[in-house]
Amino acid sequence: MQNAILKVAKPLPPAIERLSELAINLWFSWNPDALQLFAQMDPAKWAQTGHNPVRLLYDLDDATLEALSNNTDFLVQYRQVISKFDAYLNDPTWFQDKHGDRGYVQVAYFSAEFGFHESLPIYSGGLGILAGDHAKSASDLGIPLVGVGLLYKKGYFTQKIDASGGQHSELYDYDFAKLPIAPVLHEGAHRTVSIDMPGRAITLQIWQVQVGRNRIYLLDADHEANNPADKELTAQLYGGNQDTRIAQEIVLGIGGVKALRALGIYPNVYHINEGHAAFLTLERLKELLHLGLPFHVAVETVRSATVFTTHTPVPAGHDTFSIGMVEHYLGPLFHELSRHKQAIIALGLDHHTGQFNMTHLAMNTAGLRNGVSKLHGQVSREMFKEFHGHIDANEVPIGSITNGVHLDTWTAPEWKELLDRFLPGTWREEQGNKHQWQQVEVIPDESIWKVHQQLKDDLVRFARQNIMEQRKRNGESEERIAEVRQYLNPKALTIGFARRFATYKRANMIFNDLYRLKKLISDPDRPVQFIFAGKAHPADYPGQELIREIYRISQMKEFIGKVVMLENYDMNMARYLVQGVDVWLNNPRRPLEASGTSGQKAAMNGVLNFSVLDGWWEEGYNGMNGWAIGSTGTADWAVQEKENTQSIYHILEKEIIPLYYNQGNLPHQWINRMKRSIQSLSPVYNTHRMVQDYTEETYLPTADRARLFVANHYEIATKVADYKQFIRNNWYQVKIIGIDDRSAKLSTEVPLSEIKPSTKEVSAQVHFGPIWPQDTAVEIIYYEDNGEKWEQRIIAMEPTGELVEHIQSYKAAIPGHLIHGPHFSIRVRPISTNFAHSFELSLVTSTLSWQ
Ligand SMILES: *Cc1c(COP(=O)(O)O)cnc(C)c1O
Repeated sequence: MQNAILKVAKPLPPAIERLSELAINLWFSWNPDALQLFAQMDPAKWAQTGHNPVRLLYDLDDATLEALSNNTDFLVQYRQVISKFDAYLNDPTWFQDKHGDRGYVQVAYFSAEFGFHESLPIYSGGLGILAGDHAKSASDLGIPLVGVGLLYKKGYFTQKIDASGGQHSELYDYDFAKLPIAPVLHEGAHRTVSIDMPGRAITLQIWQVQVGRNRIYLLDADHEANNPADKELTAQLYGGNQDTRIAQEIVLGIGGVKALRALGIYPNVYHINEGHAAFLTLERLKELLHLGLPFHVAVETVRSATVFTTHTPVPAGHDTFSIGMVEHYLGPLFHELSRHKQAIIALGLDHHTGQFNMTHLAMNTAGLRNGVSKLHGQVSREMFKEFHGHIDANEVPIGSITNGVHLDTWTAPEWKELLDRFLPGTWREEQGNKHQWQQVEVIPDESIWKVHQQLKDDLVRFARQNIMEQRKRNGESEERIAEVRQYLNPKALTIGFARRFATYKRANMIFNDLYRLKKLISDPDRPVQFIFAGKAHPADYPGQELIREIYRISQMKEFIGKVVMLENYDMNMARYLVQGVDVWLNNPRRPLEASGTSGQKAAMNGVLNFSVLDGWWEEGYNGMNGWAIGSTGTADWAVQEKENTQSIYHILEKEIIPLYYNQGNLPHQWINRMKRSIQSLSPVYNTHRMVQDYTEETYLPTADRARLFVANHYEIATKVADYKQFIRNNWYQVKIIGIDDRSAKLSTEVPLSEIKPSTKEVSAQVHFGPIWPQDTAVEIIYYEDNGEKWEQRIIAMEPTGELVEHIQSYKAAIPGHLIHGPHFSIRVRPISTNFAHSFELSLVTSTLSWQ
């Protein structure tokens, strides 16, 4: 593995030489004093470069750099930042401390997008930001993790809004030499790997991003050896058509594994962050088949080392390709592995649609899978129930790890200063410690409001600037440009809404009753204003219509200066918004927002969430830390829309506005709620907690299983694979042949002392054929009304007596009122200590089924 320190190639004066390291380590992006250091080198250029320190260093002339290297004030700050940077890189970490004996763990995190900072535009929205925040916390915590992604020459599009609200997407060619990335070099040349595509090979260049302690490797196809069309493969994130998409996913998955090998990296955990990256399992399968492993052993080996996170219940979010397309693009792979072609296709086949589905591929090749909030876990278990035969949705082996955000990235420096003053010194390291967050209580209301008001002022300035630029570019009149200076009142209750303009997020919902909204907004004593921002995918016309509609409303007389639509939502704007508004509005169709993270960013800055009980908010809301829109139902969309609309206006009129304006000098009750919000949400919805959960619930067990499976020449992998085959082939012989639930038995078989009037004994006989009873679990399943819903209960049955003629008897004590048939059933399922979860073999024999 390459571990040389990365540097910007431009020579710098010796006294400030290490800026060349700092500029290329994304650590700068979550350290305000590092950002400040760069900004003050030349504030205007800093803004011009889009906060890109590498470009800044290139753009500054030698005289300026020389002057800075002789500027005592600058040098003092420089040294402070560098010593903090060194301490960060060398301090002991949570992982060393807690899991120091697991030095063998090596995680590879594959994602089609990473959002680290606005200066590296390889993200489109929540998925990318999550990946970036994940990598940052992994570094903070010392998790041995490398990332794998794509480097898009033109990034994601830049959004311009025209004078009638139309969205225009612009693309720029980024100069890779001036991004905060570095080529991976090998003997002086740019390191490449080659992947096979139909009829040709494609050369991919490997780049690296330093994120604190960890590296992210990015692949790019813009290499001279490639034909012009192939050079464009990695031009744009989510650009092009289905062909581009599948080719990009091959580059990411297959090219990504090859890149790791070229760098000598052999992870024992492969984390597929959304189905896009699932082809990585096919490259690993190929490697193992080439080693001579039988197909079923190779699949078990791959599965033992794979973790999959699914991110959306929206069907369009799951990539599917026709089988013909897969056969074409994976042609070279199938050529090499022709015997296994059908078996490989079967790994991704969706039987209902006849399509190859990347989520299916990931589900079938990952030992552990999870959704991104408790509710999304539940929704995913319903969605993918059929992967595991006839079992209750709650048993489907898909867990959930609720998303979080990187606290240091998203919390305003002003807030961090307050926390530094009033919380124990360990608050950053121990973000999950609820106890220390209680100390927010003692921060004086004045201090909180001062910080909040300042951030709001900053936002208002930023928003006006954004709109002025729109208007100037659109050639609007001087008058129209000048009036923007009066837009947005820094003292008014300010509500923010910013996210991708996917239709299910219903950006225009607040406008459903314009008359009622007008009344709300126009109260001179209690003004309310809204700030909107968000990009619609260039192919999403309904999404672009929403932008146009909001823009049109923002131009209506009653709403001028009170409803604004900003252009080009990115991480920079996101920070202003989530730090500067009073309320963060989120009203998706439930349950389509798998988690959502912008509200978590807002919460950390004392901004109150006003959201549908979807995604993370369903578990985060406690009645005191924000507001819940509508109910927890998942009614018909039209009904939901009506109910949610009513609920939004009602809560605004009756709760939010009165609470905000119930103030003398300071809105104490509002601030009290801000405190409740920070105390309850900051310790939970941060990526430290999230990455710790991933580590302990998925990475560690997966690394251990992966090592176990390959040890001793794939001994356990072979055992598991053969075992599964044997069980599958013989399961048809497993039959439950006799059940006795007469309570009369009780008196004869249970000692009197153990008789509880409410229990009785059930016995059953199971015929196993050649299968060992010890390789199965025999269980009683029944349902109990817990007041809200029918909840599944499971009681394990114990074997009694000897195995006779392949038949084994079992018994268990059950609640006395249950009667077999109408009330309970018995089931048998195969088990193994080497399974990652209870239903790795979706074979269940049951006496009846409620499904
Ligand atoms: C946080 C963030 C998102 C994701 O927000 P959601 O609430 O999940 O929609 C999208 N885009 C940007 C720029 C962000 O910072």
